[in-house]
Amino acid sequence: MSQTLKAVRGTRDLLPPETALWNRIEATARAVFARYNFGEIRTPIFEDTGLFARGVGEETDIVSKEMYTWSDGERFEKHKMIDEWLKRNKPDGAHVQANRSSVEHPVIEAQLRAVGVDLVVMRGVAIPGQQLPGYVDELVCFGPVVSNDLVLALKKGGELVRNDRNRELRAFGNLRLIVPASVPLTPWVDRSEVIVEQFDGEFFASSQSLTLRPENTAGVVRAYIEHKLGETGQLQKLFYIGPQFRRERPQKGRYRQFWQIGAEVIGPPSAGSESPLRDAEVLEMLATLLDELGIAGWTLELNSVGSAADRARYNDVLRAALVEVAPKMCVDCQRRAVTNPLRVLDCKVPEDQPIIAALPVIADSLDEDSKAHFAAVTAALDAAGVPYVRNHRLVRGLDYYTRTTFEFTHGGLGAQNALLGGGRYDGLSEAIGGPKAPGIGFAMGEDRLVLTLLGQPNEKPDPLPLVAYLAPIGEGLNSANIALASELRKSGLRVEAGEGSFRLKKSFEVAEKSGAQKIVILGEDELASGILTVKDFATGVQSKVPRGELADFLTK
Ligand code: ATP
Ligand code: MG
Repeated sequence: MSQTLKAVRGTRDLLPPETALWNRIEATARAVFARYNFGEIRTPIFEDTGLFARGVGEETDIVSKEMYTWSDGERFEKHKMIDEWLKRNKPDGAHVQANRSSVEHPVIEAQLRAVGVDLVVMRGVAIPGQQLPGYVDELVCFGPVVSNDLVLALKKGGELVRNDRNRELRAFGNLRLIVPASVPLTPWVDRSEVIVEQFDGEFFASSQSLTLRPENTAGVVRAYIEHKLGETGQLQKLFYIGPQFRRERPQKGRYRQFWQIGAEVIGPPSAGSESPLRDAEVLEMLATLLDELGIAGWTLELNSVGSAADRARYNDVLRAALVEVAPKMCVDCQRRAVTNPLRVLDCKVPEDQPIIAALPVIADSLDEDSKAHFAAVTAALDAAGVPYVRNHRLVRGLDYYTRTTFEFTHGGLGAQNALLGGGRYDGLSEAIGGPKAPGIGFAMGEDRLVLTLLGQPNEKPDPLPLVAYLAPIGEGLNSANIALASELRKSGLRVEAGEGSFRLKKSFEVAEKSGAQKIVILGEDELASGILTVKDFATGVQSKVPRGELADFLTK
């Protein structure tokens, strides 16, 4: 017996009615983003591994142990091979048409291209009155291996030339297939009528390391650089919604494929991208979004990690303070105390907490500019009435994270209590080879939003009620029933259309099981009179309702 296949560990299927909640969350997010003048960006799900190594940081857990990375197989570089071959083989006096050259062959070039022929090599004396030579020397295809597909393409091309109606081409030579000398010739390929030539050279680009995106900020900044969005001089306000992938230990609120809703505000400094108002605006937008989603009881935890220089100073202070206490801490912290002291602040081991609480805080290492920036963020939050708490331990360990860092947490989530995280990354663009482009952004865990909402009393994943089940009496009424369903659905009601082959008793059972509030009976009499029989499952009351009033009656 074959083994049943299941969704891969850490991934899951999302099913109705829960997916209605996912859709509501996304629709609310889109609506809020639109009001704050954000536009959507969709970047690829996989990128060059180097982007994340540089854009997230080699030292992070994400990059060092959680990425899904693979080597994308060797790529055959056909055009490199064509160019090389032409350089070495261009027959004297021949007229060669590469399928991407601008030389036009009026008769069959497009057709040859369509069947997959790469080159038409022509030679010979021009026919009087015609611009092109009348002799096709050969048709050439290039491939990474000798395959039946390529042989077939050549033979089809040959047929096209021979059957050319315009008779512009009078004679025909070879069908030639060129493959790299480095690949073995497969014996089972039909090679009749085709000359196979092995050609020396390097025609495979070495493989590329690719990674499923573990987060989306690096991809957005890559796109910002690639499309020169900074040259518009405008602030870019971009949001995204999509799956991310991390090989983590699956548990509640932590999956290997999970969804993030995020946004970035990024641009040249001249566009105001460094302004603390951008930070405050993003935070106020998040507060609004969580409120509109109906998430009750969130906490905004806020901190500043200062400039690169501030953080370097703090690192020294921390390193010095850790010399004495680190030996009493967990092994991870003992290592971090040496390699990356800031990460000690992330430690979750209970025994270490009192020690960490007594360590110096980064606020005391900030310079005047960083302090003023943070003060401006909090002043704007106060003015907008957004509550927050200062969390001195909230640091992001990457070099280009600067100044504002934040998390929104929720008590209902247990250990994985972060609904979202974000911060400023003024040096990120430069770290991946772009222009100076300060920015601030966040990523919200959509899975955790769903968990939080499902944990709240009175939360209905799918609030649209199924108001009625329409039961036709007999198969002859199926079409009339579909027409009635269509009418009601057009007026915005959710209804289920039943099946005329069911007996009435079965229709009642199916209707009740479907969760419909009422059942509408459509028999010959009802159809003729236009008066429908409706039964309310909750009250047991049966009513006669004129068709024109049915939609109103059902929503009452
Ligand atoms: P955590 O401390 O929970 O591991 P993180 O710092 O790794 O979070 P970020 O990279 O800042 O998380 O991602 C932002 C948000 O994405 C998190 O606050 C969380 O809501 C969500 N998230 C991160 N990893 C996962 C995961 N494996 N499964 C579900 N949601 C996740
Ligand atoms: Mg994590």
